[in-house]
Amino acid sequence: MASRQAQQFLDRLHENVWQGMNRTPRPRSAADDTEVQSMIDQLLSLRSGLIGRKKTEELRAGLQRNERLLRATTVSKYEDARTIQGLHRLADTMERAARIAGFPVPERPLLGTLPTGRVNVVTLVVPGTGEHLVLFESEFSGFAYLASKAVAELLPYRRTPDGGAAIELEPAKVRERLVRHPESARRFGELVTAYLETGVPYNAPQYLQEPVRNTWAGVLCEAVQLFALGHEYGHILRGHLGQQRPAAWLGGPELAEPEEVAWSNQEEVEADGEGLSLSIAAMQSMGYDLPVGFLGADFFFTMTHVLERAINVLRHGRENVSTGANATHPPSVLRRMVLRHVLSRHNTPEVESAIMLAGNLENAVELLWRDLRPHLLEAHRAGMRPLRQWRD
Ligand SMILES: [Zn+2]
Repeated sequence: MASRQAQQFLDRLHENVWQGMNRTPRPRSAADDTEVQSMIDQLLSLRSGLIGRKKTEELRAGLQRNERLLRATTVSKYEDARTIQGLHRLADTMERAARIAGFPVPERPLLGTLPTGRVNVVTLVVPGTGEHLVLFESEFSGFAYLASKAVAELLPYRRTPDGGAAIELEPAKVRERLVRHPESARRFGELVTAYLETGVPYNAPQYLQEPVRNTWAGVLCEAVQLFALGHEYGHILRGHLGQQRPAAWLGGPELAEPEEVAWSNQEEVEADGEGLSLSIAAMQSMGYDLPVGFLGADFFFTMTHVLERAINVLRHGRENVSTGANATHPPSVLRRMVLRHVLSRHNTPEVESAIMLAGNLENAVELLWRDLRPHLLEAHRAGMRPLRQWRD
């Protein structure tokens, strides 16, 4: 259990960061309740043809129960109950799977969010306690979901004889789909731009998605988040110390010197390895095979790589800018390479297909990136810049 001190420290960090961004938290209103209700209705009407009346009613009851639980969850006014609940749900799944697989499970750190401007997670030390705070970028989950959704729009699938559907990632088929459905590239571009320009991925125009694609997007998003969380558990499990350094950007009148943890490249690579094992075990505990679990970890870096380049193009007008000695993470491409190498040493027959699947997904995202880059360059020339909070 995280201490009260840790929670209070987090509240003060939020206060500083929000003030620095000139933002104030918006209290929940009746309009939010109406919106949630209409989202539930939309979702149910999309599914009802597929799952029949009884199952639809069960789904409705489940969603409404969850909604009531959410409203009863207390979180600080700076955090979103749904996101925090989601993080704990991921942690529950992962810890349970780890115990069954015989992995050690560390005590759960305080899981929270902060608009950090890193497409990632930061670890902070609670002053005077040594306790760690594991903070996801406030919109990380939203971006992971919408990016998975945008990619799912691009992927061709075929119906299988047993009534299911199989996603096809062969490059030629993906290219063909993009030619016939150029709106998938546009949507991906709108998402990246909204996230970098406003900090809120949901500011991109929203769209309904057919159930097969949407289910697939949900699975990919789950795997991505499990990997991100598993990576943080990896640091704890390995007893990494990192290097504490002042995080002046989080300071404020009452909080002179917060410190963040900067991990060494070696520690990052080790945490990636642990995160991979943990997230694959968690996905397997939900019935997904190794390639699907691996895809989440691999896609995490593919996604980060797109955002890093997009920030560079918007800010500097070019894709590659050296990150310098101050970077807290080694480049995502390098980490993705190491991850594939780590997996290739696993002695299971699924490894080959996992790596091929991940490579194909990477290529699909590259097609989207190639489409987006000239638009970003044009936007840069017209004066658009990413929010200051985004670090390059
Ligand atoms: Zn790390």
